[in-house]
Amino acid sequence: MSGLSNARVIVAGAGAFGSAIALRLVQSGARMTLVDPDLGLGRSASAVAAGMLAPALESVLDPETNVPFAMLRAARELWPAFEARIGRDIGLSRAGAAFVDLPGLEPRVEALRSKLKALGAEIAPPPASLDGLNAVFTPEDWRLSPAEALPALLGAFRAAGGTAVRGALAAVEPGAAVLADGGRLVADRVLLATGAAGLGLAPELSRLAPIKGQIVSYPDFTPPAGAPTLRCQGGYAAGGEDGLFVGATMEAGQNDLMADPATVERLHALAGRLYPAVRDLEPIPAVGVRATSPDGRPMVGPSAAPGVLLAVGARRNGWLLAPLVAEITAAYLADTDLGPWAEILAPARFADA
Ligand SMILES: Cc1cc2nc3c(=O)[nH]c(=O)nc-3n(C[C@H](O)[C@H](O)[C@H](O)COP(=O)(O)OP(=O)(O)OC[C@H]3O[C@@H](n4cnc5c(N)ncnc54)[C@H](O)[C@@H]3O)c2cc1C
Repeated sequence: MSGLSNARVIVAGAGAFGSAIALRLVQSGARMTLVDPDLGLGRSASAVAAGMLAPALESVLDPETNVPFAMLRAARELWPAFEARIGRDIGLSRAGAAFVDLPGLEPRVEALRSKLKALGAEIAPPPASLDGLNAVFTPEDWRLSPAEALPALLGAFRAAGGTAVRGALAAVEPGAAVLADGGRLVADRVLLATGAAGLGLAPELSRLAPIKGQIVSYPDFTPPAGAPTLRCQGGYAAGGEDGLFVGATMEAGQNDLMADPATVERLHALAGRLYPAVRDLEPIPAVGVRATSPDGRPMVGPSAAPGVLLAVGARRNGWLLAPLVAEITAAYLADTDLGPWAEILAPARFADA
């Protein structure tokens, strides 16, 4: 990666995309600064996410994601090596995921089984814990813990020589990034990984739309070891040592971080159906705002703004896609082979729109 050696790169945004990219680049010899007003505060969409790495069920449950299953699976396949890069525990679990039909809810298992088969996704017998339920199980879908992964990424970035600064990028000028407090950082390239924010920093960001997501968690409840993520009509329950996470709403066009009591109640009721043991626990609500591009796919690559690269529009799969987006970004900066997936993510696809 000689093209990256000593390049001065500023990454704005320390969510899943920005943190993964910053680590990937600093470990390749770039002189990196990561800037985020919420640094370490855990308020980004990445911080509240459930952490599912779910190429199979995301492909069939959210077709608007519009990313080929093969690409989502390729992204998941990068996680073990990326975990090694991080070098700390990120709660990576390969327990798989099951969609279950619950009494009184629209049955979907058979239709989803057909769709998964058509994709070529692996299907296996459901674990014994699901005996008696109509369920389809896939070992394709994994999980990590965002609460562990975000600080682990930041720690590994700093340990590799990266500088992390709490602050907001306000403008990009030739050779410099200007912060909201007036500070200037010398930069050969600026990478925007600002999620649903950052409007005005690059023209393409005006194409992003917000999708609010509400989720509840139960930090004191740990699902049984090896339990798969459970998905059903109306939601999911995913978790590990970091607790149980039950979500999530998809509120297109909404950009606020207010939890709605009726939604929290609905998610709590769903949680109790999937894990009766949480019925008497207090649900902890959290809200994040995802960003989506008009075609559902992220925008990764050069912006029309000189010296600026983008890694935005993660929609529902920012954690899943982060290592792949980091690889593609590193290839752009080092001017090496971009691989098979860069073209469909290139921001230039919206240039004439
Ligand atoms: C409830 C919920 C559940 C989800 N579950 C999953 C899941 O199970 N699996 C999965 O893969 N994805 C999931 N997602 C989606 C995932 O969270 C997002 O796709 C992903 O986190 C987006 O990452 P990001 O880095 O692009 O943006 P963000 O996480 O939004 O991070 C952007 C960062 O940029 C910073 N920033 C903004 N403006 C500036 C500026 N001017 N200068 C510097 N920094 C700035 C912000 O402070 C923020 O920290 C979920 C999302 C929600 C809301």
